[in-house]
Amino acid sequence: MNVRLLEHTPEPERTVATAARICYAPVGADELFQVMSSEEVEKLVSLIIKSGHLSAIEHAVFTFAIDGISRVCSHQLVRHRLASFNQQSQRYVKYSQDLNFITPPSIENNLLVKEKYDKLNATALKIYQELLEEGIEAEDARYVLPNSSETKMVVTMNARELLHFFSLRCCNRAQWEIRNLALAMLKEVKEVTNLLFKDAGPSCNRGPCLEGKFSCGKPWKKIK
Ligand SMILES: Cc1cc2nc3c(=O)[nH]c(=O)nc-3n(C[C@H](O)[C@H](O)[C@H](O)COP(=O)(O)OP(=O)(O)OC[C@H]3O[C@@H](n4cnc5c(N)ncnc54)[C@H](O)[C@@H]3O)c2cc1C
Repeated sequence: MNVRLLEHTPEPERTVATAARICYAPVGADELFQVMSSEEVEKLVSLIIKSGHLSAIEHAVFTFAIDGISRVCSHQLVRHRLASFNQQSQRYVKYSQDLNFITPPSIENNLLVKEKYDKLNATALKIYQELLEEGIEAEDARYVLPNSSETKMVVTMNARELLHFFSLRCCNRAQWEIRNLALAMLKEVKEVTNLLFKDAGPSCNRGPCLEGKFSCGKPWKKIK
């Protein structure tokens, strides 16, 4: 899996603080953006995150390049509605031998089933190619491709949606692949702004676990 932060709001913390401050400032946002001290920015951002008045953090936006995830994972990812997605099309891209398949660690570590798994993926790809050779359009030939097929995406989320996404998907309840993806995305954004994502992660990173009877019961190792 490759996850890279392609682009982001240039000064996310200052932008968020400006949006928060405009609500009760006599001057315009342009001036606020210029004159606020770094200490004021930090204080405001911490305050709005703590208070849960999160509309201002929607002004900070992050765009990721994501490769090497399965269609299982992308299907879970696109359930998050307050995000923008573009995904490599199985209609417009025809695969030859270059289609990769994602293998779950549970299968990777089990030699007995790994062989069957690889064989099934290879057979699916072979039949797919045969369908193309028979003149079947890629949009129909793709029906034989498995969920394990690799996909590539560009994903944009604002900081508020990212906090929600991290809360659900960094959790031990989330499936391993989307959890790894969420953790990789969190690592990327923390390098840009640790302040906005200081306590990001599952609910147990901030207090008691909210998963009730589904809780994994394990203490959360706080994300630095
Ligand atoms: C561990 C786990 C197991 C899951 N299992 C299943 C499953 O078995 N089957 C299944 O179908 N899905 C499953 N899901 C997916 C889940 O139901 C959600 O679709 C997905 O997590 C997106 O989250 P969301 O709806 O909270 O938020 P997003 O779509 O990311 O939206 C963010 C927030 O915006 C608000 N919002 C967005 N759209 C609306 C709206 N239309 N109306 C009102 N408020 C809105 C809500 O507050 C929402 O929390 C699972 C998710 C997890 C994390």
